[in-house]
Amino acid sequence: MTQYPALAMMIDGEPVSGGGRRRHAVINPATGEAIGHLPLAEAADLDRALAAAARGFARWRKSTAAERAAVLEGAARLLVERQETVARNAVLEQGKTLPEARLEVMMVVGLFRFYAGECQRIYGRTLVRPEGQRATVTHAPVGPVAAFAPWNFPIGNPGRKLGAPIAAGCSVILKSAEETPASALAVLQALLDAGLPGDVAQAVFGVPDEVSRHLLASPVIRKLSFTGSTAVGKHLARLATDNMLRTTMELGGHGPVLVFADADIERALDTVVPHKLRNAGQVCVSPTRFLVEQRVFDRFAAGFAERAAAFRVGDGLDPATQMGPMANARRPEAMERLIADAQGAGARLLTGGERIGNRGFFYAPTVLAEVPTSAAIMNEEPFGPVAILNPLPDEAAMIEEANRLPYGLAAYAWSEDARRQRRLAAGLEAGMIGLNTTMIAGADAPFGGVKWSGHGAEDGPEGLHACLVTKTVHEG
Ligand code: NAD
Repeated sequence: MTQYPALAMMIDGEPVSGGGRRRHAVINPATGEAIGHLPLAEAADLDRALAAAARGFARWRKSTAAERAAVLEGAARLLVERQETVARNAVLEQGKTLPEARLEVMMVVGLFRFYAGECQRIYGRTLVRPEGQRATVTHAPVGPVAAFAPWNFPIGNPGRKLGAPIAAGCSVILKSAEETPASALAVLQALLDAGLPGDVAQAVFGVPDEVSRHLLASPVIRKLSFTGSTAVGKHLARLATDNMLRTTMELGGHGPVLVFADADIERALDTVVPHKLRNAGQVCVSPTRFLVEQRVFDRFAAGFAERAAAFRVGDGLDPATQMGPMANARRPEAMERLIADAQGAGARLLTGGERIGNRGFFYAPTVLAEVPTSAAIMNEEPFGPVAILNPLPDEAAMIEEANRLPYGLAAYAWSEDARRQRRLAAGLEAGMIGLNTTMIAGADAPFGGVKWSGHGAEDGPEGLHACLVTKTVHEG
């Protein structure tokens, strides 16, 4: 049985806790009980982290690509060795199933390995100039990064926030979600144990608005990287303007899924239902609005509800569990509000629509049908295990509905018609599109959205370049 670890911030390579600091209780979402206490940063802690980050950047920007690659490779190896412990702690603090948490560790391993290679390919170029003259374009690390990661992927999000800046030669101060600190600390510890200097990457926790205001107001910080809701993202983007920070914003979504009559409906259902219920729907690219061509609607809805109702919900550590609890008390409350509102607006409840048990934050897989556009859930990211199924007459109406919202993160479509697939790829307003697949991410693929879903990408060469600035030197 895993023991949940003692928690401390990591500032300038040292664990920091106690000393009369405020504390945050970490809750196991499967029981609702506290499993640990997290120290929260005071202003002096943040100032210490900023001073270290400035020092760390001065040091790390001079590192060779091979040194950075060795750290990332070493951390990847350590995370493979520590996979089971890291994954179990993530289940204890976040609720997802153990297989999902294990995969999340491997996602970070893959990303660190990718960046270990990619950081050795930060090429510049030489411009054509008359003989005797020269102009070169080079890429330099942007500087110390303030990175904010949410609780839904407690291992993967910190991995993204740390991997790219470290590969680029930046220093990072990471504030991961206070709900899931052990996972973030484990990712950082793997990097430190692999030889990363303690002033290059640090972890602080605190009252989120206090920490973000303090860090973003400092002249030390040169970049903001945020993953979370659009509302908080807009607030942080405003703060980042004062110091003209570079930004990578990975914000909310409201994933449309267009299902056409010419699709392989059974394959689509077998793929999209588990994808919808992954991490209890608390995924920014979760498929949410299923826009189904009228003539296959009844079949699709019946198949969806049947599969969702059969999903086994329980403690993420129980091997029989297919979906764990929601991550915190706010989520089932949001589900109750959104689902009651939708039913009040005339939606049909096909399955679920209620909490499970009176311990922890369990909510039943829920399917709503024929939900009017006026319902809050048609406009607000539900971030939970609820699918909205609506019939639509044709492709044009489906694309129009898919693009109706200001979000543009992930969109999915199921159709066997190759010409239609090309029209959808061109017409859907989203940063990531899955055609007959839900696999829309990978270490080598840019992950990010358009419109209110944010800007800039993580992962892939794009994620690395988001941590670099361009410098052109002209020699006469
Ligand atoms: P929230 O919007 O308050 O917080 C979202 C994340 O931002 C959390 O990790 C939180 O710690 C952080 N945060 C909040 N205020 C901050 C601040 N001033 N400075 C820095 N970080 C701050 O609410 P929540 O209840 O945690 O989540 C609610 C909604 O957030 C969800 O419904 C979902 O829409 C969105 N969300 C999105 C993602 C994602 O992957 N894009 C992840 C988690 C939550």
